[in-house]
Amino acid sequence: MRRPLIAGNWKMNLNRSDAVALATSLAGVKATDDVDVLVCPSNVYLDAVSSAVSGSKVAVGAQDVYFEPNGAFTGETSTDMLSDVGCSYVILGHSERRNVIGEPDELINKKIKAVLAAGLTPVLCVGELLEEREAGRTMEVVTSQFEGSLASIGEADVRKTVIAYEPVWAIGTGKTASPEQAQEVHADLRKLLAERYNQDTADSVRILYGGSVKPDNAAMLMSQPDIDGALVGGASLKPDSFAAIIDASAPKPAT
Ligand code: PEP
Repeated sequence: MRRPLIAGNWKMNLNRSDAVALATSLAGVKATDDVDVLVCPSNVYLDAVSSAVSGSKVAVGAQDVYFEPNGAFTGETSTDMLSDVGCSYVILGHSERRNVIGEPDELINKKIKAVLAAGLTPVLCVGELLEEREAGRTMEVVTSQFEGSLASIGEADVRKTVIAYEPVWAIGTGKTASPEQAQEVHADLRKLLAERYNQDTADSVRILYGGSVKPDNAAMLMSQPDIDGALVGGASLKPDSFAAIIDASAPKPAT
């Protein structure tokens, strides 16, 4: 049974006091007993947010990292630095880093390896552009990102990795993939994991959906068999909406 993970990607938003207030309020949300909750603030506020959630079940992650351990890499942050300020997860290959900053799969692959070697959990994002979906190329694109980003990553390491399917046309646009559209890609991703590794590994890896997840669509998305949680942008910036998504994602008792 895969435990749901709800991750908030705060991107380049919130100031120190808003970030700490949001983290503090999430630390008290009751559904965290049934759902893993992760918040990913700007690096500048990682330390403050880690202190705010300390003693709670809310985990803290970074939105990116560099793969080298230290040295002359101006502006970059290492895995050790992230561990030092309480991070346990790192988002990698987010569509904004792929498409705005221009990160290729080879670089994402090096970062995943560094994150795993440091004992942190990578959240690998994959997803197609609108024109790629319209051209019927969704799985071609997602497969190529999957293969490139996970190149030479073994079974034990992939089991520690979280994958997030985030169709780029649904991120920050208010357009959500339908539960069926999302489920189809999630099932195909799980098939890729089974083909590349084995069924047991495929069954153990959490695959999150991301793209305009809101309190009113979270439960439908989470009811799909291969959707194991959500990576949430805009709706993770408000305590009420993020808490409602966490609540909607908690496993329901069988009736
Ligand atoms: C994201 O940033 O990963 C994301 C899914 O954003 P939003 O929820 O705002 O679409």
